[in-house]
Amino acid sequence: MNRYSKLMLTPCLMLLLSLHGTLASAGPAESYFNHVKDDPLLLRHFLYQFPKGGDLHSHLDGAIYAENYIAWAATDGKCIDLSSFIIDLPPCDASAGRPRVADIQFDPGIINSIINAFSIRNYEFGPLSSHDQFFATFQRYIVASHGRQGSMLAEVTERAARQKVLYLEIMQSYGMDIARNLAVKNEKFNGNTSLAELAKLDAVETLVTDTLVFTDQVEQQWQDELGCKNAPDIPGCAVEVRYLAQVIRTFPRDQVLAQTLLAFKLIEQDPRYVGLNFVAPEDASITLRDHRVQMQIIRDLAAHFPGSSNKISLHAGELALPLVPPWELRHHIGEAVHIAGARRIGHGVDVIHEDDAMELLEYMAQQRILVEINLTSNALILGVEGAEHPFELYRSKGVPLALSTDDEGVSRIDLTHEYVRATQTYDLSYVYLKELSRNALAYSFLPGADLFMDIPRAEKVKDCAQDRVRRKLSNSCQKFLASSEKARLQWQLEEDFNLFEAKYD
Ligand SMILES: [Zn+2]
Repeated sequence: MNRYSKLMLTPCLMLLLSLHGTLASAGPAESYFNHVKDDPLLLRHFLYQFPKGGDLHSHLDGAIYAENYIAWAATDGKCIDLSSFIIDLPPCDASAGRPRVADIQFDPGIINSIINAFSIRNYEFGPLSSHDQFFATFQRYIVASHGRQGSMLAEVTERAARQKVLYLEIMQSYGMDIARNLAVKNEKFNGNTSLAELAKLDAVETLVTDTLVFTDQVEQQWQDELGCKNAPDIPGCAVEVRYLAQVIRTFPRDQVLAQTLLAFKLIEQDPRYVGLNFVAPEDASITLRDHRVQMQIIRDLAAHFPGSSNKISLHAGELALPLVPPWELRHHIGEAVHIAGARRIGHGVDVIHEDDAMELLEYMAQQRILVEINLTSNALILGVEGAEHPFELYRSKGVPLALSTDDEGVSRIDLTHEYVRATQTYDLSYVYLKELSRNALAYSFLPGADLFMDIPRAEKVKDCAQDRVRRKLSNSCQKFLASSEKARLQWQLEEDFNLFEAKYD
């Protein structure tokens, strides 16, 4: 039994907290949850409907299921190299082993191999480790994604809506290839030009404008594809989507600098871009070599964009033995937090190997630095799961956590799968699951004040302290919610909890 289930089972404490309007009892829903907790099928059914605040760690490319990439490539007249399973642009040449995807789309022998090549399905029967297979998938399907970014949003938002996920903070790299090319062509990125001057380059401004126009087009395609204009109730239309500009970090310093500059400028100029992240294998030799330098790039640029300095989430500590030697496990999370000023950490798996691990955990708890937990991804890529995973360590130290999917299409999971996995692996209580769900909004980079003063106790801010969901709001609470985009979604989540729990009364 953990401290949360103790709290859950203490009726006097529940009553006391309820009277103070802090922690309303979920009653029969909680009892039902406890009843089905050990039954994976009924638990899945329960948690599929369970309201989830959001997914804060989802790479758009990796979120797509192979079946859709194949269907889009077929419709778009693209080809596939049958020796490497890499999708490519026409012209195709079947006699040279590069047929049109449309021509092999329903050949069961070939299509099953392609689905395996685009995901970790059946990796154990292939030549690659799960880690290598995971990262090999991206280059195979990436050309299928071109021109389909709106379709990709349609897929992920529809899946989110069906699982009662309110908010997606999606990582994508629009414009990042061009940013890297800018650095290749323009020697001003080689370290001798001030950041202020770089930020004003015409080529950078043009790239920002072009990227935002492209984002408009993607969103239009997403809405059109779902048919949101005529039927806004279609699953997916109402899911709130924001973006984290993702910098591909496995490139030389100047190219990382150019991408990071683009990321900060996108955040500055468009509210749809709420933050940034650094992605690509953390164990790649260039990432290991440049990690500190990359953190310094973020720190220095954040000083130029002070309004964005608290919108940094970083993959850090997605490492384990024997993937890297022990000395590589000692400093990535610490540097992400202390040098780059990350407000959230993705993965954080190797935290116990960090220099001064206990001080770091204490600092993260004090500073409310959330860890985005990706259980399935960590099990597949790093081979770390169960008691070996620091989930319980973070929790015991008071570090806020949220569950996320990382690459749900490649892993062939969904967010519900991660809630089920976490519940069963760590014997989580219903109260703590609600905290995880609430954290995914409270620690999002949405603008505005937080609805809660204390999330574990669900203690609302003064302006809304006396208000209850699905009742007429007080003037002060109406005003507060009108002032905060984040709080409005948080209020929506509380309403969803209320409706969900009422079904079990
Ligand atoms: Zn990730």
